[in-house]
Amino acid sequence: MRKEAYLLKPLSGDVVQCQVCEHFCAVKPGEAGKCGVRRNIDGTLYLVVYGEAIAVHVDPIEKKPLFHFMPRGDILSIGTYGCNFRCPFCQNWQMSQIRDFDDQRDYLGQHAPPEALVNTCLRDHIPMIAYTYNEPTVFFEYTYDTAKLAHEHGIKNVYVSNGYMSQAALDMIEPYLDGINVDLKAFTEGFYREQCQARLEPVKRNIAHIARETNIWIEVTTLLIPGLNDSEEELRATAEWLAEVDPEMPWHITAFRPAYQMLDRPPTSQRTLARAYEIGKQAGLHYVYVGNVMDADRESTYCPQCGQKLIQRRWYSVRELWTERGMCPKCGYSIAGVWA
Ligand code: SF4
Repeated sequence: MRKEAYLLKPLSGDVVQCQVCEHFCAVKPGEAGKCGVRRNIDGTLYLVVYGEAIAVHVDPIEKKPLFHFMPRGDILSIGTYGCNFRCPFCQNWQMSQIRDFDDQRDYLGQHAPPEALVNTCLRDHIPMIAYTYNEPTVFFEYTYDTAKLAHEHGIKNVYVSNGYMSQAALDMIEPYLDGINVDLKAFTEGFYREQCQARLEPVKRNIAHIARETNIWIEVTTLLIPGLNDSEEELRATAEWLAEVDPEMPWHITAFRPAYQMLDRPPTSQRTLARAYEIGKQAGLHYVYVGNVMDADRESTYCPQCGQKLIQRRWYSVRELWTERGMCPKCGYSIAGVWA
């Protein structure tokens, strides 16, 4: 289904500039932006995958990953085709890297307009919706309309994002967004340029803005790719910057597995993950987690003041060990997060 884009600027000769993400593509008639799903048709910019979900699943919130946001909750998770990044290590490339399709003829998944998604949540008592699997910014209008309707029914909204949205897109979705996990893929402009065909600086700007100036709960994830972004120096710089932004912001360090076009590198070792975990703690981050591996100790939540274990995790099996959510039962420390 086509939907006229919400954030754009007309340029000369029927060229339209998309203003949803930091690429700010100037899209000519008959062409698409870098993401492939925002197209200029006869001088009008459309999102062509509106209401067409390639994936619709009910996941545990821990899978996003969000560890300080409604633990053990179910979340209706949707994604479409398209992405504004070109990462060769993408784990969801069958969705994200599809660009050349005929939206009037080809399979675009399940027809699931905002009303249908919200009705599913109401019928099945699912308290949250995640815009995930591929970059939600590229299907912005679909997320915005769904999130707005969801809020009217008391349903929370979560983005799982690469953090490359424009300031205008972030400002527009902010009143309806309750949580976000932002991928901070590395801490060098070189990595972002060469691996993602994007820039690091807007991602840092958005993480800092969300953490300091909005009510959106934020957690950050970094996928550690052997030899590409896992040096001691880079991990320390990442962790120190995150701690400076907000030491209460959880940092997930997850293990790489060969995928898509990056099949020549080994999976991340437990040793590297453990080292990154220590670096995060030393930098002053209160909540550091490892992911994509079995490591129950480093997946669990501890009180940063007295060290008491508060939430025990093993993959998606979660056991809460506190009597009152958000408060350490031993020392009374208030644990940052959205608990109700
Ligand atoms: S969302 Fe980003 S990549 Fe897609 S058309 Fe808009 S500016 Fe370009």
